[in-house]
Amino acid sequence: MIHSLPNRNQLARLSLVGMRSMSGKVKEIEEQLRKDDAMEAPADLEGKVNLYALNQTRMEELLLDWGEPKFRAKQIWQWINVKGATDFDKMQDLPKGLRAKLAEKAVLGNLEIAVEQVSKDGTIKRAYKLKDGQMIESVLMPYDDGRRTACISSQAGCAMGCVFCATGQMGFARQLTSVEILEQVQRFHVELLSKGERLSNVVLMGMGEPLGNYNNVMEAVRRINQDLGIGARHITISTVGLVPRIRRLAEENMQIKLAVSLHAASDEERNAIMPVNLRFPLADLMETCKFYVEKTGRRISFEWALIAGQNDTPEVANKLGHLLKWNDFNPQGLNKMCHVNLIPLNPTAGFDGKPTKAAECDIFIKILSKYGVTATTRVRRGIDIDAGCGQLKSKLNKVSACAMIPFYGFDVR
Ligand code: SF4
Repeated sequence: MIHSLPNRNQLARLSLVGMRSMSGKVKEIEEQLRKDDAMEAPADLEGKVNLYALNQTRMEELLLDWGEPKFRAKQIWQWINVKGATDFDKMQDLPKGLRAKLAEKAVLGNLEIAVEQVSKDGTIKRAYKLKDGQMIESVLMPYDDGRRTACISSQAGCAMGCVFCATGQMGFARQLTSVEILEQVQRFHVELLSKGERLSNVVLMGMGEPLGNYNNVMEAVRRINQDLGIGARHITISTVGLVPRIRRLAEENMQIKLAVSLHAASDEERNAIMPVNLRFPLADLMETCKFYVEKTGRRISFEWALIAGQNDTPEVANKLGHLLKWNDFNPQGLNKMCHVNLIPLNPTAGFDGKPTKAAECDIFIKILSKYGVTATTRVRRGIDIDAGCGQLKSKLNKVSACAMIPFYGFDVR
């Protein structure tokens, strides 16, 4: 969700290519909102059951079907979700016969790792190949304070068409099933458990617009929370601003966090880079964010990729401050109910923007504070494997540059 913005020349070019394709995108966005995509669980791999796809009840049903006692389901569940077993042979308290049956009839996960890169800072970036050949990316970011954050994808491709984003340019391929979304988290969860560590946070900021795949994302989020034990407050859903879905999310009565990608503070600028803004302009989006805050009592994060000389100037900071203040989120103090995450651009091939320097970030933050808006700059992650992004992309041409999450901090507040 956090990517690079076009510079002025690119914007000019884009406006020529412009409004026709943008309005086509708006239709696509509306289509996605109409469909409300529910999807079946994926078919089993070569007739084998994916145990990651099963909740506890279904695990019990499976074991009973196999003529095994019900309590075996609990044992298997514990091995996978509490002890982090990645291999049936490790499940030592199961009878040998059952372990053999599991090896014959079941698998632990359907996602195939196509490429993996590990940064000096420990960040792991991984491209998974799905059963139908689609590619998605997941990232794991370890922090010094012990937190482990997974950033995962919600769709293969994306219909939102943000012009600065290669996934957007690639278009929408398909929704991920709830199991495909869950499994990205479960893989990191299990791997960390096996090392005596714990996955602490999940952010849905990889490929796709999570609220464009609402039902599957919510099902996955529930299971991440209930089955993997990751607190709802440690799960963040990011959106470019699908207004009806934000309203729906507000009614869910879940403690999850919401992050809204803004990147521009006027309709004119935002229309040029995010077609979703043509359908849901800033006034609607801000009104909806206000509704979300009032309904849930929860703070919203606004994501802002900072590009030197483009959207990091004092003038833009004032515009953003004014936008958020004007939409006064809370009479007691705006700063309590929203937070701006500033993310200096991570330079990538194919985009000539440069990251904002620390001193300018500080000025931006100071200006926002005059409007009562709190903001922090995110630490970028996995910088040293940036170059590898292009490498990965050329190897896997279906994986977009957008999906090559350029490792901004996903530490959403
Ligand atoms: S096109 Fe989709 S994946 Fe890319 S930034 Fe926009 S919403 Fe995110």
